[in-house]
Amino acid sequence: MHCVICKRGTVKSGTVQAELRIGTDHLMVPVEADVCDECGEAYYSTEAMRHLEQVRENFLSKVIAPPSVGHVYQIS
Ligand SMILES: [Zn+2]
Repeated sequence: MHCVICKRGTVKSGTVQAELRIGTDHLMVPVEADVCDECGEAYYSTEAMRHLEQVRENFLSKVIAPPSVGHVYQIS
């Protein structure tokens, strides 16, 4: 399958770190996706999207409390 974004790359399945933004929080979530080897565009499956929604809900309702791996800094 060819990438519809750059039209040059080939899309292959693999694991990517999807980024969820919840307010000022960023969640890095490893999910299965088809990734373009040229531009890096990720195509998520319906299952992956569902998984990301589940993670978002679990985070908001504090069912999960993942460790922090970085900080967001605001320059004023
Ligand atoms: Zn591409």
